[in-house]
Amino acid sequence: TSEQLKGQLLHLDGKSYGAYKSLRGAYAFPSFELWIDHVQGDPFASPSHMRVKWPHRYPEWALRTVSRRIALCDYLTRQFVARSAQLSKGNRGSGRSGAILMAQPGQEVLERTTVIFHEAEAEARFQLGLPAFGRRIAGREAVAVLLEELPAIVARSLPFAAQEEGPLREHLLTNEDADALRAQLDEMGLAAFIADGAILPRASGVDQRPLAGGIPFESPPSLRVEAKLPNRTLTGLGIPKGVTLIVGGGFHGKSTLLRAIALGVYNHLPGDGREFVVSQPLAAQIRAEDGRFVAQADISPFISHLPGGKPAHQFSTANASGSTSQAANLVEALEAGATALLIDEDTSATNFMIRDERMRALIPDELEPIQPFVYRVRELFEAHSVSTVLVIGGSGQYLGLADTVVGMQHYRPVDLTVRAQEVARTFPQQGSSTTPLPLALPQSRRPRGSSLNAQKGKGEKVRALGTRVLQFGQYDIELGAVGQLVEEGQLHAIGQVLQRWSHRPDGGSLANWLDEIMGELDANGLHALQPQPEGALSAFRRLELAAALNRLRSLKVD
Ligand code: ADP
Ligand code: MG
Repeated sequence: TSEQLKGQLLHLDGKSYGAYKSLRGAYAFPSFELWIDHVQGDPFASPSHMRVKWPHRYPEWALRTVSRRIALCDYLTRQFVARSAQLSKGNRGSGRSGAILMAQPGQEVLERTTVIFHEAEAEARFQLGLPAFGRRIAGREAVAVLLEELPAIVARSLPFAAQEEGPLREHLLTNEDADALRAQLDEMGLAAFIADGAILPRASGVDQRPLAGGIPFESPPSLRVEAKLPNRTLTGLGIPKGVTLIVGGGFHGKSTLLRAIALGVYNHLPGDGREFVVSQPLAAQIRAEDGRFVAQADISPFISHLPGGKPAHQFSTANASGSTSQAANLVEALEAGATALLIDEDTSATNFMIRDERMRALIPDELEPIQPFVYRVRELFEAHSVSTVLVIGGSGQYLGLADTVVGMQHYRPVDLTVRAQEVARTFPQQGSSTTPLPLALPQSRRPRGSSLNAQKGKGEKVRALGTRVLQFGQYDIELGAVGQLVEEGQLHAIGQVLQRWSHRPDGGSLANWLDEIMGELDANGLHALQPQPEGALSAFRRLELAAALNRLRSLKVD
């Protein structure tokens, strides 16, 4: 019981830090059970992993749908983080003594392992720095943290009785509606939807909260659609499947719109401004990423006859160029199941995107290995049902190829589709002199599980550093250019999956592996990924899992 824990802590006072190990186990508190699962080795190490389990009395409405349950857990995570910032005294000795930590969510509402609801019981997972002065156990401080602060934080953040019902309900119903909206896109014939009134710009380049005073989104009437959701009806801009261009002058809001669409694969908090900006679940942002590693990607749809006789249908490199990296990013996204491609000129290789008549006159086709995307974009949709949303302000080459053209003018979208078609007729473009071969989507490669086993000599270290780097044994997987990763917990989770993959026999195709893993996650929940209940994992998509695998420099495929 908690009284016994108190006795034990006072008894440990002044002993050497290692004696804390004896605390492992479960303790009954008046309204919850505390599980001490893993005890840190010293006060400077990563704090100890603990859980609180309590019989929850959440009403049926809060748990009725998967969307509501995920939103509830997200909400409670935020409550716990906020209360512990308020109520924890923080530092109580050396190193991380006294810290009570739960991973801080950003603007996205995601499934995580921080709070989990079982049938009648709920569970919260967090880290707590067991206090010490130097390497001596600070027993009295430990009593204050574990028996006073922690119960106060729990009582004021986790039970239903602690919640303000209005904001809680809003959080759950918003999430439910966003999920419903995303699920409707397909039958509405849309690649994405941006609700009227949405605030797209962010506070700053390093602050994902909404820009105060941002101009609310207002759809042009000709592209306005209505969506009926479980808890509300909305209007907004429907971006149809097919080829869509976002055009307009510099600084008029094009990239901001595309970025919001890219993050529309996730749900957002009420008040974020992008709650009802949603895109197809497998929409993939594609950019150039020179310097990246590539393992035998078939980039032949875009690149042929590389210099030096390098084969383009099995393109490997430790240092891709702008155009080859963008081609690899694109074919890898298709391999992993992408249904829509989101491309911004700001982050694209020009020679991958366009090629004009003058350049063609100067450099003969035999010396240019690139079939630019402009020759492929229609076929991708017509033959393979892959939509493209493209931001392009600097070249008119795509105008005749678009189904829809949205112009951004002072942050307001206007429908320029008809006008763009007129312009394309008035200034005709010479067709390509080489007719590109029909685009066959590359076969899915077969990764060798053994090639993931890159951890020799470094133990089994798998660690996320923010959203940019996943340390995987001796390799750093660079994910800075993978734009649809939003929180560190996603990298932790992907790291767990890759580690498990490394123990698999070789064989199956990547596409099958992804199906299998994502199916397991759906069936068992994210927490099933962890052998021990530690660390905070966040939900991720198959596209980002594949992106991490594809950037692991030891990867070999058959
Ligand atoms: P573009 O890609 O057209 O050059 P950006 O999307 O990068 O333009 O936007 C330029 C600037 O305008 C950015 O600082 C962005 O935050 C801001 N911005 C974008 N949309 C809005 C809006 N709706 N209201 C206010 N500011 C906006
Ligand atoms: Mg831009």
